[in-house]
Amino acid sequence: MDRPSGKPGRDCPRCPRLVAFRSAWRKQEPDWFNAPVPSFGPIDAQLLIVGLAPGLRGANRTGRPFTGDYAGDLLYATLKEFGFAKGDYQARPDDGFTLIDCRITNAVRCVPPENKPTPQEINTCRDFLISTIKEMPKLRAIVALGRVAHDTVISARSARRSDHPFSHGGARAMGDLTLFDSYHCSRYNTNTGVLTADMFRAVFAQVRQHLDSAP
Ligand code: URA
Repeated sequence: MDRPSGKPGRDCPRCPRLVAFRSAWRKQEPDWFNAPVPSFGPIDAQLLIVGLAPGLRGANRTGRPFTGDYAGDLLYATLKEFGFAKGDYQARPDDGFTLIDCRITNAVRCVPPENKPTPQEINTCRDFLISTIKEMPKLRAIVALGRVAHDTVISARSARRSDHPFSHGGARAMGDLTLFDSYHCSRYNTNTGVLTADMFRAVFAQVRQHLDSAP
């Protein structure tokens, strides 16, 4: 069986439905990444951003979180604006775009059908999130993009979800970490006005201020 580390193997067998989906897409699009998408950014970052799961034609195709996904356009532009990234984001893993003091991972590492991981898949993949958090020696802040990311981070910290409900723009101290919540920067949320670019910026302004203050 696989060892829980921050990095699932390319053929991680843990979620049968996701394995079947991955196998089908490997046949259909052999040039795509089609594997658990690894975290992106330096392991010694102070900030970890947790998304939902790779998009089929985005991160699952390119192999880098949010890269080629609609959500990546807003995320990467915002990270650059607040000094968490540099370079020109060109939606390709070889675009030279670099994260600064920031790392990005997903609650579920494999692409789920219709962008919807099941509760069991989220639970199963949490081992990798726990290891990802543990392996970051300087981690001080987590941004959860959406309720699924929020809930899995709460569980990863062994806290009770009922004590820590999701709230966009909210920040809560959890031991030596602060968890910031944002609505997910998905196409649906931005098209429907649930999340505006200014609302998203306000979250990262708060994170910037937090990290720039003394620990
Ligand atoms: N792409 C990702 O990698 N994660 C998301 O949550 C959405 C798109």
